[in-house]
Amino acid sequence: MPLCPDDKQLLDESAGGFDCPACGRHFGSQLRCPECAEPLEVLKACGAVDYFCRQHGLISRSRVIVA
Ligand SMILES: [Zn+2]
Ligand SMILES: [Zn+2]
Repeated sequence: MPLCPDDKQLLDESAGGFDCPACGRHFGSQLRCPECAEPLEVLKACGAVDYFCRQHGLISRSRVIVA
């Protein structure tokens, strides 16, 4: 799960995107690389979710950009 860019709270997954429980902002489901802003692939394995950029490899969830 990505973090809110404003307050770094863990976002809740909601219909069509993510909600921040702290500030109430809603974000779309598009997750982007902090380096190149390209959409990330979401890899789900063994209950864990990883975010992958084709150029920059695995991106930790705390660095994922939500838009
Ligand atoms: Zn927030
Ligand atoms: Zn990248």
